Amino acid sequence: ADAIDWARIRADFPLLSRQVHGKPLIYLDSANTGQKPAPVIEATDAFYRQHNANVSRAVHTLGTEATEAYEAARNKLARFLNVRGNELVLCSGTTFAINLVAYSWALPRLRAGDVILVSRMEHHANIVPWQLVAERTGAVIKVAEVLADGSLDLPALYAAMTPQVKLLAIAHVSNVLGTTNPVREICRQARKHGITTLVDGSQAVPHRPVDIAAIGCDFYAFTGHKMCGPTGTGALWARREHLQAMPPFLGGGEMIKEVSFGGTVFNDAPHKFEAGTPNIAGFIGLGAAVDYLQSVGMQAIQARESTLLAHATEELLKVPGLRLFGTAADKAAVLSFVIDGAHSHDLATLLDLEGVAVRSGQHCAHPLLQFFGVAATCRASLAFYNTHEEIEQFIAALNKVRRLLV
Ligand code: PMP
Repeated sequence: ADAIDWARIRADFPLLSRQVHGKPLIYLDSANTGQKPAPVIEATDAFYRQHNANVSRAVHTLGTEATEAYEAARNKLARFLNVRGNELVLCSGTTFAINLVAYSWALPRLRAGDVILVSRMEHHANIVPWQLVAERTGAVIKVAEVLADGSLDLPALYAAMTPQVKLLAIAHVSNVLGTTNPVREICRQARKHGITTLVDGSQAVPHRPVDIAAIGCDFYAFTGHKMCGPTGTGALWARREHLQAMPPFLGGGEMIKEVSFGGTVFNDAPHKFEAGTPNIAGFIGLGAAVDYLQSVGMQAIQARESTLLAHATEELLKVPGLRLFGTAADKAAVLSFVIDGAHSHDLATLLDLEGVAVRSGQHCAHPLLQFFGVAATCRASLAFYNTHEEIEQFIAALNKVRRLLV
């Protein structure tokens, strides 16, 4: 069934052939940031070598080329996610995208007593902006809890959808547990209650086919650097009616039609929200990343990663004293664990000496770790470019460092 030559695909990622501490690198931190295939690196390089100019300003040839390439990237991204380009605000990433909604949509609308509903498994980027809004408006934050397996308590979530709830902000896929939330059904329920929905797609877009239109949310935020794209890229998709109603978040060049000291006429969305010179080369790279992911195929990527996940899960559970967090049925390839008697940072530090890159700590999700009663975890997060051999080597290295620590 698996006719794809994954070894050839892996060879597209130059960095993956390097060594760390004299050992071949085993990169298991893709939930943190993904590695970049050569076509992405080459697209940004080619932009600076051949086309570099600012966008939407100059009529000269380079300016036109830069603008066309930038807008082409926006349209590629839109097609990839089944939305329209003019509904996609390009920005530096999920954090910016969520803050844009917080400041331009929520701040002017929410009143004292309104409720912002989030889940226990949110990344801080989908918690802290709402706390800032709540502080200024008197709105309150309510939390939908997770179950022991790391899945959402859906009946509790639906029961929490009271008339006071104005916004539901929820992760598509958890960056700590890999839990994939049924966002389509969740948004359908929210809509029945007149609740506006924001989905944090940071960990979904890189790993599975995502059809934003089918999800039926109001806002969808994601980041480019986890989906083979350059750092400092990402986007907010929003329903056209929201983009039209929302005031700009930042003022400056590019986002205006006309400026006088008597007043300013803003540009149309999405440009209204893209003040200043954007990360042009980054988005051209992100466009190449979309081409690349599509050439591999998102369905194939999802299937590959679930095979790797099954393998890694089976092997990890054989490690003595290991506790794995997040065992939901619909799960992305993220493995958070602790080992009895070993500090997560020590594990990660010793694994690094074996060439294995994992993340340790709280993964920007303090409330979730509090729920599980641990101060930190180790997190191995996989991508389609990882191999079964790497999983074997990772497990061997983990057993080795465990014996040193326990
Ligand atoms: N949400 C989730 C679920 C994430 O995994 C991340 C990145 N770790 C973010 C938000 C924040 O993304 P960025 O740092 O690219 O803005």
